[in-house]
Amino acid sequence: MRENKNALIKINDLNKKFSNGHVVLKNICLEIFEGDVVCILGLSGSGKSTFLRCLNLLERPSSGEIFFEGKNILSEKINIDLIRRKIGMVFQNFNLFPHLTVLENLILAPKKIYKKNDLELKKEAGELLKKIGLGKKINSYPSVLSGGEKQRIAIVRALMMHPDIMLFDEPTSALDPTMVGEVLKVMFELAKEKMTMMIVTHEIGFAKKVANRVLFLDDGNLICDESPEKFFNEQEDIKIKRFLNCMTYK
Ligand code: ADP
Ligand code: MG
Repeated sequence: MRENKNALIKINDLNKKFSNGHVVLKNICLEIFEGDVVCILGLSGSGKSTFLRCLNLLERPSSGEIFFEGKNILSEKINIDLIRRKIGMVFQNFNLFPHLTVLENLILAPKKIYKKNDLELKKEAGELLKKIGLGKKINSYPSVLSGGEKQRIAIVRALMMHPDIMLFDEPTSALDPTMVGEVLKVMFELAKEKMTMMIVTHEIGFAKKVANRVLFLDDGNLICDESPEKFFNEQEDIKIKRFLNCMTYK
């Protein structure tokens, strides 16, 4: 039961103020548990990307605490590379290296960090690619891949590090609508395999189907953390209702 479980991530009073004085995250408190699939919704500019970026230290919070597996990752002593290894991230624009093949993209980081040999990594990459139907693309360059294929490979690249949690920042919003499904399917499979995930998305149908919690950020405030049933069917907050109405006419 949740009461007896330690949080994988525990966030206390997280604030982020940019150097121009803009306060983007305001006193966020949250616990994420192993196996959680958390979808984060909110208007553009509400702080969703900044929030995810703070969790794997791409942004430094201005104040507050983030405990990951019980360790305060904002402490001076923490090894940032170790944290990034355990907290995988998938971005909107894939960020694959264009001059490297799919295989080279996939093994670059684990080779450096885990000091595994090429053969072992190639086998692992091949198996993961096969699982998502891209086994034949192992020696291709990103330029010949579709957006959907690139994003599925970006997901595999994050998985190659064996993360304990995956963060997704609008993974399908740069895609042609015909390719959204193939990426969501990979994420759906990950959820079935009990991967802990935090997903910023505007895919309401996906959130309804896959999430066990839906969060809503409103101008840097976390104003809602509910089950999808409650969030979508019994919503009382006027701002969230308005947001959901806009999504319906997307
Ligand atoms: P979302 O992902 O919800 O659209 P973001 O986290 O990207 O929101 O941005 C939240 C707010 O912070 C926006 O108003 C954005 O302009 C601002 N912001 C983001 N990055 C920076 C930055 N490096 N410096 C100043 N303001 C920023
Ligand atoms: Mg964003």
